[in-house]
Amino acid sequence: MASSSTSPVVPSRRGFLRGRVRDVKPARRPPWAVNELAFLDRCTRCDRCIDACPTGILVRMDGGFPGVDFTRGECTFCADCVTHCEPRALVRADAQALPWAIVAEIGASCLATTGVECRVCGETCPASAIRFRPQLGGVARPQLDATQCTGCGACIAPCPARAIAMQSTDNLPTERET
Ligand code: SF4
Ligand code: SF4
Ligand code: SF4
Repeated sequence: MASSSTSPVVPSRRGFLRGRVRDVKPARRPPWAVNELAFLDRCTRCDRCIDACPTGILVRMDGGFPGVDFTRGECTFCADCVTHCEPRALVRADAQALPWAIVAEIGASCLATTGVECRVCGETCPASAIRFRPQLGGVARPQLDATQCTGCGACIAPCPARAIAMQSTDNLPTERET
């Protein structure tokens, strides 16, 4: 069987920079990535961050550039990817620098919405950002505190309903009702 020779579909970095970026949903870059245009300019697609990641969540995405696949696991924020990125496409300015501006979002397919008790996400969240609120006459539903969520992704793969995804913090309501 003729194996599909890897067709040269790898778009050039220049191609990305010249407009393809507008057409492509931005990939979730590794933590501490510089802004997308600078990232595409600096990243040489050497795979060293991918090889360095101990949890295996970094994968080749469009054009061979690395991105995060949380269905494979979580980010421990070890920064090994940053250490191995020689062209400085990943830069951790200091110990306080945020790795990214994303938080988890629990969708409507959560089992609790159908009356099935499940607390897997709450049990796997290392930041205790997911609490369960009892419902009168129903099972407890998860509630995510976006101010506590680090975007580590630990809740995503274990969710049996695939109900959890990441969203940009830019999409969060600005309300702060406390
Ligand atoms: S910080 Fe560590 S766990 Fe997270 S993507 Fe980088 S190498 Fe992987
Ligand atoms: S793990 Fe998934 S299905 Fe279970 S409570 Fe959390 S969001 Fe709902
Ligand atoms: S992304 Fe990480 S910190 Fe945020 S809710 Fe999921 S497990 Fe908790």
